[in-house]
Amino acid sequence: MSGLRPTGDTGEPGGATPDDGPVVDAGHEVTTYLCIGCPLGCRLEVEESAEHEIVEVRGFSCRRGERFARQEHTDPRRTVTTTVAVTGARIPRLPVRTAAPLPKGLVRALCDRLASVRVAAPVRRGEVVLADALGSGIDVVASRDLDRTDAG
Ligand code: SF4
Repeated sequence: MSGLRPTGDTGEPGGATPDDGPVVDAGHEVTTYLCIGCPLGCRLEVEESAEHEIVEVRGFSCRRGERFARQEHTDPRRTVTTTVAVTGARIPRLPVRTAAPLPKGLVRALCDRLASVRVAAPVRRGEVVLADALGSGIDVVASRDLDRTDAG
């Protein structure tokens, strides 16, 4: 591995960012990721040719990690879990999540968008709170039931 040199770090939250940034070796670029598939936290390497083709994926201990490395390298996504305002319930915030992983670049914009969303109880788990979030085709859904309380 001599000749590898760290060149940057995105600093994004989520634990799966390139932990040493891309490195160049013999015309190929190697980027490392920390696998978040399980607590083992394997250090994954994706080697890419000058033509941006993935040449090899290394460092995984299971197929899930290999799939994660390829996905993270080509189309990083995150499941967003947060809360939105709810009225008429015994608590002021409703836990919500994206129904599928969202492109990582849209995460912050989605959080900003959800800051202005307000729903009214009752709400059922899985109910769509925000459809087609940011035109992604992915809905944001309630993570739990929340009954209406007249006293709330
Ligand atoms: S590669 Fe497999 S074993 Fe290693 S951290 Fe990822 S999920 Fe866990």
